[in-house]
Amino acid sequence: AEEVGGGDKEVVREYFNNSGFQRWRKIYGETDEVNRVQKDIRLGHSQTVENVLKMLKDEGSLEGVSVCDAGCGTGCLAIPLAKEGAVVYASDISAAMVAEAEKQAKEQLQAGSEKKVVMPKFEVNDLESLNGKYDTVVCLDVLIHYPQSKADGMIAHLASLSENRLLLSFAPKTFYYDLLKRVGELFPGPSKATRAYLHSEADVERALKKVGWKIRKRGLITTQFYFSRLVEAIPA
Ligand code: SAM
Repeated sequence: AEEVGGGDKEVVREYFNNSGFQRWRKIYGETDEVNRVQKDIRLGHSQTVENVLKMLKDEGSLEGVSVCDAGCGTGCLAIPLAKEGAVVYASDISAAMVAEAEKQAKEQLQAGSEKKVVMPKFEVNDLESLNGKYDTVVCLDVLIHYPQSKADGMIAHLASLSENRLLLSFAPKTFYYDLLKRVGELFPGPSKATRAYLHSEADVERALKKVGWKIRKRGLITTQFYFSRLVEAIPA
């Protein structure tokens, strides 16, 4: 069903500033206070980050390369990118997430590494309001919060910010029933999480094609409770 106005976005912002922030900070962190499902999601997500780093580095060194991390969360990708020497601009709709990412970056990015480390520039901003030009734009596990009708516009906007490549990850529709079944087995009651939208790969590919982009590389990351399709798109 079509959402009216900015409804989704306000719900998402509110969630990631409050209960969603608490939940995801734990999942994306390193402490033991995670349950079995959260631990599995942490593992899957860390594999997505590794895959992204590999896809990017396979094309050459990241030193001095400008990267926009749209919807950066707690900085799981922005920080390793900075360690590789990338000039990172990272933003998120949630002020809580951005504050946590900034704190993590200060703790983890110390001077004295071999590569020239530039502290990422963090900002509270929804991805629709981003502007400027970057060599590379990355948007990981954000589209899951929006229906395809909104995702099309987001993909077009992200592509317009990028000069060379756009990396996107999303929960693929092919695993819908699988995931529903697995989650259903664990949580028989109504789920407390925000609504999740899965996207078909064909729909994402179509959205890219509409703005003159094509997919160059694909990856698929699956654990028991985490499913993510990763695509790298370039101007066609
Ligand atoms: N990309 C990060 C990562 O992979 O570690 C975080 C993924 S987390 C599941 C989704 C993030 O997207 C949250 O931090 C949320 O606040 C952010 N987000 C959701 N909608 C957004 C929007 N319209 N603009 C910017 N950020 C958004």
